[in-house]
Amino acid sequence: DAPALRDGIDATLLVAGGAGFVGSHLVDRLLRRTDIERLVVVGNLWTGQLENLSHIRDRRFHFEPCDVETVRSDQLFDEIYHLASPASPPWYMQQPERTISANLLGAMRLRELLKEGGRFCYTSSSEIYGDPIVSPQPESYHGQVDCTGPRSSYDESKRCTEAFLFESRRVRNLDVRVVRPFNIYGPRTRADDGRAVSNFAMQALTGRPITVYGDGTQSRSWGYIDDIIEGFERFFWRDTFDYRGPLNIGNDREISVIEVARYVCRLI
Ligand code: UDP
Repeated sequence: DAPALRDGIDATLLVAGGAGFVGSHLVDRLLRRTDIERLVVVGNLWTGQLENLSHIRDRRFHFEPCDVETVRSDQLFDEIYHLASPASPPWYMQQPERTISANLLGAMRLRELLKEGGRFCYTSSSEIYGDPIVSPQPESYHGQVDCTGPRSSYDESKRCTEAFLFESRRVRNLDVRVVRPFNIYGPRTRADDGRAVSNFAMQALTGRPITVYGDGTQSRSWGYIDDIIEGFERFFWRDTFDYRGPLNIGNDREISVIEVARYVCRLI
């Protein structure tokens, strides 16, 4: 079992976006802890799916169908995990204003539901580096983002939410933990997610051509969900780091898109 963050057995947790691909895996990992009394998942099922949580048989678990910006609760929480945001470009580009709102207004609302001294954990993104001219990107690199570009709703709302949280830490000593995950793949990715790994897998399984954009030499850090969640666990509640983030979490080996496509074809 994962060791507990705090002594005692009564922690109350809220996971916003816990029905999503990454969120639901985080919920599974959190429920291994024995110090939790109640874990509430908030989700509006925009990109999340109830079937991601349907295997859970745990009396501590509750699901609240709700937008993160308007979530209400008669209790405050010891730990809040904010993952309520689409992460796939075609999904967030379709509803950019909603993406900005979920990240930033979501964080503002959630902070109001945190107990004094509670911990706020946020999944930012490696996308905050934009079109980086430094590669690989250390956390100290400030990135190159276009606030009017097609990915701005995602990049800039992740950046502004980081600013909101780190400034909350500075002015009110908020206990924050911020991660910047790189590309993540694995079970529970939506079939219509639209990103490379799920597109390639779905195309290969249904006998359609693989859509490699460009020459496929562009690369990414592709991280398997269990490894990424292991990183979240260690940073969010298990290890006693003084560092609060931002923390890059990803595969330290870059792989090109064409290599991923060829690998999927070989498997199929
Ligand atoms: N990509 C591709 N074919 C697809 C989907 C994506 O070649 O069907 C490429 C895309 O151009 C990019 C890389 O794969 O260079 C990763 O794209 P994805 O949308 O998975 O994630 P992100 O761009 O957000 O890292």
